[in-house]
Amino acid sequence: MASLTLDKVRKAFGPVEVLKEINLAIEDGEFLVLVGPSGCGKSTLLNLIAGLESSTDGEIRIGDRVINDVHPKDRNIAMVFQSYALYPNMTVRKNITFGLEIRGVSAQERDKAVADVAKLLQIEALLDRKPSQLSGGQRQRVAMGRALVRDPDIFLFDEPLSNLDAKLRVDMRTEIKKLHQRLGSTIVYVTHDQIEAMTLASRIAVMKDGILQQFDTPQNIYERPNNMFVAGFIGSPS
Ligand code: ADP
Ligand code: MG
Repeated sequence: MASLTLDKVRKAFGPVEVLKEINLAIEDGEFLVLVGPSGCGKSTLLNLIAGLESSTDGEIRIGDRVINDVHPKDRNIAMVFQSYALYPNMTVRKNITFGLEIRGVSAQERDKAVADVAKLLQIEALLDRKPSQLSGGQRQRVAMGRALVRDPDIFLFDEPLSNLDAKLRVDMRTEIKKLHQRLGSTIVYVTHDQIEAMTLASRIAVMKDGILQQFDTPQNIYERPNNMFVAGFIGSPS
């Protein structure tokens, strides 16, 4: 059970309130896309869920379990960033399995895990290369492989495709959609790209200045925006 609930979650950095009472109930297997202008608090929200920052107030739950005080390593949440953050001196294989190795997973199990993930992401031919020998799209696949291999309950994506060119973005979008259909994992996905949001999301959360403006299906967001901000944001060129 990997439903994710944010209950009156607030986050302040010193005197600055970056998130103001966020309530979100994300269902098991849901693909939630979070959109909003730069600086509105999207990455901060993901960081709270991942445990990289702690909330000032409110409760975060996976299923019925309150995770506010659970260490990031024990949350079974994987995060994929815009900057791929691969280890430059390790091969692709090592990049993918390193996390398992430090968790004490046996070499045999690691080999099996990397083979499965590489097949799924079609990166079998790249396993012995270094990140510098990969294209942007290939690096992004490896970053996803590193997240997938942990078999997480929840995936967090922070603008994962924004460094890629337009064609590759469309390809990767399709791949991510397929991956989600296949794995059925719960996903929170931040993007600037409205088409990405409309095509990937089961529901979209629109945020402005740390306040959730609307949390609804793509169709309702498009046809029945709550306010001018939502209407303008969805309607404007990305
Ligand atoms: P987004 O991802 O939507 O662009 P962020 O969550 O990165 O926005 O940032 C939201 C706001 O919080 C910004 O004003 C940013 O400057 C501020 N902020 C983010 N992280 C910190 C931090 N560690 N310390 C102080 N302010 C921060
Ligand atoms: Mg951000």
